[in-house]
Amino acid sequence: MKAAVIGSGISGASAAYLIKKKLKCDVFVIEKQSIGGKAYSVERDGYLIETGPNGFLENKKEILSLVYESGFESELIKANSDSKRRFIYSNGRLWELKDNPLSLLFSGFFSLGGLYAFFREPFVRPFFEDETVEEFVLRRFSKEMLDKLIGPMVCGVFAGDPSYMSMESNFPRIKEIERRYGSLIKGLMSLMAEKKAKASSAKGSFSADLLSFKKGILSFVRHLLDGVDVVFDKIGEISKGDRFHLKGLKDSYSADIVVFAIPAYAIADVLSGYDPDVSRAVSSIEYAPMAVLSFGFDRKWLGSVVDSFGYLFDLNEIEDIIGVLFDSTIFQHRAKEDKLLVRCMVGGALRKDSPFKSNLFQIGIKELQRSASIFRPPEFFYKVVHPKAIPQYSLNHKDVLNTIKDFENRNRGLFITGNAFWGISLNDCVKASYNLIERIGG
Ligand SMILES: Cc1cc2nc3c(=O)[nH]c(=O)nc-3n(C[C@H](O)[C@H](O)[C@H](O)COP(=O)(O)OP(=O)(O)OC[C@H]3O[C@@H](n4cnc5c(N)ncnc54)[C@H](O)[C@@H]3O)c2cc1C
Repeated sequence: MKAAVIGSGISGASAAYLIKKKLKCDVFVIEKQSIGGKAYSVERDGYLIETGPNGFLENKKEILSLVYESGFESELIKANSDSKRRFIYSNGRLWELKDNPLSLLFSGFFSLGGLYAFFREPFVRPFFEDETVEEFVLRRFSKEMLDKLIGPMVCGVFAGDPSYMSMESNFPRIKEIERRYGSLIKGLMSLMAEKKAKASSAKGSFSADLLSFKKGILSFVRHLLDGVDVVFDKIGEISKGDRFHLKGLKDSYSADIVVFAIPAYAIADVLSGYDPDVSRAVSSIEYAPMAVLSFGFDRKWLGSVVDSFGYLFDLNEIEDIIGVLFDSTIFQHRAKEDKLLVRCMVGGALRKDSPFKSNLFQIGIKELQRSASIFRPPEFFYKVVHPKAIPQYSLNHKDVLNTIKDFENRNRGLFITGNAFWGISLNDCVKASYNLIERIGG
């Protein structure tokens, strides 16, 4: 059996690795641009820059299993303890999100109205249907909670717009807690108590650490593809004869199994002649654009805020940048000891034009002056623009997943995976590859 995996991001690389190892198939990968997709690391002038993801949580078991299974554990690194400090920029200053969420409640961060809405939450009736993140937060809490806490997180993690994103498809666990406990606060408190009891009996730590790799995320993708043939070509069409035939810009390829591990809009293009209905369904998935600005500074005299993970923005305070990350504080090996590597995330679904502005350098400098009081000129700058950075799961996402399921059932040998469907994180992508192996093998 010969398997072709289209796309060499973390989804394609993990799928190819697992197909080869677990199903013992002859596998090759077809990639249009460069290995890694969004997971790309660049070493320059003593800095190690992640132009996409920079890590994953230790409690995410699938990616960690793959790290161990593939023998890459010696490359793992853990975030420094300073990176547990995180902030929100609101009302013209940074507010620390301490481990104990109650400390934020009584810090003056929320107004009295916001506090009232918070304490009223356990008495709000649960709602069982899907809704947008904005509808959920407004129903259970308040506009202030949306703008100051949930919105910034949604924007920071998903580059998303809370008024567009589906609760059920992006935060199934939160909806489940609402269903089970009737209230988010009640549910989270009892889950935290359970977790704390388990952690103290196991003498383990309560919160999960962030992990990465010494030489960056791309090193793991490359490791997974070690020993797998990768051809560089852009696939444009698929057809079926005795096997599947893939037509690229440079050549044609045939295989018994084809795995699509490319973005939804790219799948839509390839399938437009083969299955217009599926093509239409996947093309409905929208993408938020983002630019990643990396600045290098001399670390001296920069103030204590840089000794942290970074910060997000109150939705009312966003100009162009939605998050600031102090990468070299989070992980060693990202800059020399006396240097600071900062990444500014620009745009997302709430500021769709921002990543394409011509003065991104000045935008980043101005923001670091306003919110982090960094007035020193940077000694290093590196910019990457992702016109389609992160897929957005809307209220029709479940229908898209059903269409894909139906497509795979009707077309034995064709499979769809990738971050556009079952979660956007690195761990979600790897988990989707483990699930894919079961579908191919089953
Ligand atoms: C700026 C940024 C920061 C992020 N930070 C984090 C983080 O810290 N932690 C985390 O867990 N997640 C993070 N994410 C999300 C995560 O990185 C992505 O969801 C994940 O890397 C996507 O992997 P993928 O393989 O599904 O898709 P991609 O990485 O997009 O890979 C798809 C590949 O397919 C190729 N391709 C496309 N069309 C064709 C074609 N026609 N023929 C052949 N090849 C084709 C592309 O060139 C690409 O290499 C971040 C994302 C971004 C953009």
